[in-house]
Amino acid sequence: MGEVKSEYIFKILDKYDKNNITIATLGSHTSLHILQGAKEEGFRTAIVCEKGREVPYKRFGVADEYIIVDKFKDIVNDDVQQKLRDMNAIVVPHGSFVAYAGLENVEDKFNVPMFGNRDILRWEAERDKERTLLVEGGVRIPYKYDDPSEIDRPVMVKFPGARGGRGYFVASSPEEFNKKIDAMKARGWLEDEDVANAHIEEYVSGCNYCIHYFYSALEDKVELLGMDTRYESSIDGFVRMPAKDQLDIDLSPSYVVTGNHPAVIRESLLPQVFEMADKLVDSAKKLVAPGLNGPFCMQTLVNDNLEVICFEISARVDGGTNAFMGGSPYSYLTYGEPMSMGRRIALEIKHAIEKEELEKVIT
Ligand code: AMP
Repeated sequence: MGEVKSEYIFKILDKYDKNNITIATLGSHTSLHILQGAKEEGFRTAIVCEKGREVPYKRFGVADEYIIVDKFKDIVNDDVQQKLRDMNAIVVPHGSFVAYAGLENVEDKFNVPMFGNRDILRWEAERDKERTLLVEGGVRIPYKYDDPSEIDRPVMVKFPGARGGRGYFVASSPEEFNKKIDAMKARGWLEDEDVANAHIEEYVSGCNYCIHYFYSALEDKVELLGMDTRYESSIDGFVRMPAKDQLDIDLSPSYVVTGNHPAVIRESLLPQVFEMADKLVDSAKKLVAPGLNGPFCMQTLVNDNLEVICFEISARVDGGTNAFMGGSPYSYLTYGEPMSMGRRIALEIKHAIEKEELEKVIT
């Protein structure tokens, strides 16, 4: 656990004017619908934005206040933190916030109330911890290889850090593994240190569903809010090429996320979809209290045995939620009106203020 203790954050919260809360985030990733959703629930909104990156926020008009910084990472500077506290801000973390601010800074230096569990962010960032959460919960995951020499069937090779799938590759034998590692190094996409930390897992031939959930700590309930599939470069361009040409050009595809498609899953798979999230929420409560409060995502592959296999999680709002700024088919079933993930976060904060239970949803 980091230096920023919940008791200290709760003291800051005590001094906040609860009738005048601002919802704030870093201008990137999912900030458009986080702030739009906050406005819909009646909050003031603020954006911490890197100089030169204001355009989408100004054009869409989602922010009431702008804190312009030289670099995204400056969100952890003392003066920026003070400005946020002065506006009674609750900060909503997202993938870019964690990447730019730095996990250590979020854990040790960022003395501003944050929505959700700040301690769980490390558990999604470190592959062993992430795996422990899934294994402990009994969630179905891909088989993992401890050494490249054991590769005996198609595997997916991954590397540490949030690099958007850059440098990932598929191999079927130890020889092919070594050949592709050399090619990635020559391209400057991998260092020796990355190779030592290569994560090798069974290649699941199946369809990709990234499932967006919201765990309400106030109601102790997991909600299904949407699903997307990733649009990844260069693999998705590569597969549009006739097979013969793919063989001719001998290109190593990569998996850099460039966008998202909305998706729905076969209705008969929904029991698995709910069950796996309930399991993860339970193991998170045990391993990293208070658990997975707020938005999270399970990235899955569904094979032709109709098994939903989880290969990755996000313990905060996932980028794919951008596909549902006006709500998804699943959020429609629950709410009957447009409910983005951003709006759901704001609704939880609003309910927590009404019930005087903010400390249940903030760390
Ligand atoms: P990730 O960066 O972990 O989200 O992975 C990037 C992409 O690689 C995913 O969107 C999937 O298309 C693919 N992928 C990841 N893990 C596997 C796996 N075990 N088997 C097959 N494809 C995978």
